[in-house]
Amino acid sequence: MNPDQRKDWDTYFMDIAYMVSTRSRCSRRHVGAVLVQGKKLLGTAYNGAPSGVPDCSEAGCMIAEDYELAVENGQEIMIKKQRCVRTIHAEQNLLLFTDRIDREGSSVYVTDEPCWTCANMLANSGITEIVYHRPYPKDTGKVTAMMSQKGIVFRRLESYDPPRETATEIEN
Ligand SMILES: [Zn+2]
Ligand SMILES: [Zn+2]
Repeated sequence: MNPDQRKDWDTYFMDIAYMVSTRSRCSRRHVGAVLVQGKKLLGTAYNGAPSGVPDCSEAGCMIAEDYELAVENGQEIMIKKQRCVRTIHAEQNLLLFTDRIDREGSSVYVTDEPCWTCANMLANSGITEIVYHRPYPKDTGKVTAMMSQKGIVFRRLESYDPPRETATEIEN
């Protein structure tokens, strides 16, 4: 980027979310989320075990597998999902660490597209906009549909590049 060129707000807040994500100790996924009201930063969070409890780097990921019924071309299929359940997701930590009154009408910038559970919670949290960068295709259909039902602005920064050394490979 041209050093004289000022960062736009989307880039500014997403860069902060990526910086926050570097605190995560889960080897599967580093997710950062920030709460923004107007142009004011009101909270930051990343995915991790509860404080004071061994995290994924100490105790290893706690992998759970579950199955979800989906319909594809008129056929019912079971989709297998594997995830680390040791951590509280960044979006959920953000809700734990912020006040309802601060969230009313605010935006969340999150490095990764929220999973269904996080999306469900965010939809009931008072926030009115979610901005993400990396897609999470497994849940995107139902998450996008729910956000439009709720009237929450849900958008992806497609041409965004994270700051170097903050982005990690994601295993799905
Ligand atoms: Zn983990
Ligand atoms: Zn989640």
